[in-house]
Amino acid sequence: MPATIYYDKDADLAQLRGKKIAILGYGSQGHAHAQNLRDSGCDVIVAELPGTANYQLAVSHGFQPLGTEQAVKQADIITILLPDELQADVFRGQIRPNLAAGKTIVCSHGFNVHYGQFDIPEGVWVLLVAPKGPGHLLRSEFMRGAGVPCLIALGEGTPREALKLGLAYAKGIGGTRAGVIETTFAEETETDLFGEQVVLCGGLSALIKAGYETLVEAGYQPEMAYFECVHEVKLIVDLIYQGGLNYMRYSVSNTAEYGDYTRGPRIITEQTRAEMKRVLAEIQDGSFAREWILENKANAPAFKAMRRKERSHPIEVIGRQLRKLMSWIEAKEV
Ligand code: NDP
Ligand code: MG
Repeated sequence: MPATIYYDKDADLAQLRGKKIAILGYGSQGHAHAQNLRDSGCDVIVAELPGTANYQLAVSHGFQPLGTEQAVKQADIITILLPDELQADVFRGQIRPNLAAGKTIVCSHGFNVHYGQFDIPEGVWVLLVAPKGPGHLLRSEFMRGAGVPCLIALGEGTPREALKLGLAYAKGIGGTRAGVIETTFAEETETDLFGEQVVLCGGLSALIKAGYETLVEAGYQPEMAYFECVHEVKLIVDLIYQGGLNYMRYSVSNTAEYGDYTRGPRIITEQTRAEMKRVLAEIQDGSFAREWILENKANAPAFKAMRRKERSHPIEVIGRQLRKLMSWIEAKEV
């Protein structure tokens, strides 16, 4: 079934008139929501931690950041744009005690709502308004007069009439200029986790490393392996981004295209597809969420150990040297 998509004509900013919007967290998403909504004529307040760089950034943009509790008390609409793994604790300690019937919670990712980390009081609406792009793009497109597509969804128990408020919010951040796709918290959360685990982050980095290691173990120079298996990924992805797989295949050589058709399916095999289904099942039955929530409660020991190990992989060492040879790529270090 094709998705329902809403545009400017389907949304009315008047829904937000007389309502105070609190943006919690002035990070990637927060700085863009706060400024776009303010530029759309909304009454916006910001909550940030005093003494942090983003607190100063909010001040330099003309906001006077409050504490989270104060902001929640004052606002009608509360947008939670804190790091996902901190949201449950902040919700329990600082947000929930200050909620009252008639207030609305907005999220830009469904994880905590979908996996039951927020105990929502009676009479509080919950909406998802999720831009499909990073905050800096949301802000720069808005200032150009354009927008970034967004997703919209209603929380469990939130009445259908709340959609109007959500669409007004999406219009305020510029989303309806591009298109706002209706979804559910479950669909947004599960497809987001699946995409990042199987394709974007997990699948891609495992593919890159396995390809690199295969060449190096076969005696090829690591520099060559890096260029072929890491650096050139961007060239290919840029082509796919602009015109799909078809345009990529049109742009590469016929030899590369033939290799794609005949060898690709030998890499992503029936076994790989079966594993994808198992990864999806762990997302759907909540076992991935439980694992990640408990990992964070334990102060993330396994996560930190894996991060340390991955950072010292030979592919990172050779990559650091080679990126220095390419002045145009704006090499980054963390
Ligand atoms: P960021 O980490 O960029 O920003 C979070 C901000 O919250 C930081 O400024 C952080 O301060 C601040 N903060 C941390 N703890 C508190 C606290 N207790 N009280 C007040 N402020 C606090 O997060 P993102 O913008 O990336 O993500 C926000 C939400 O948006 C998440 O739900 C995410 O899934 C979603 N999202 C993100 C997208 C993206 O591209 N980034 C895209 C779509 C959705 P400090 O920096 O000092 O820690
Ligand atoms: Mg995602």
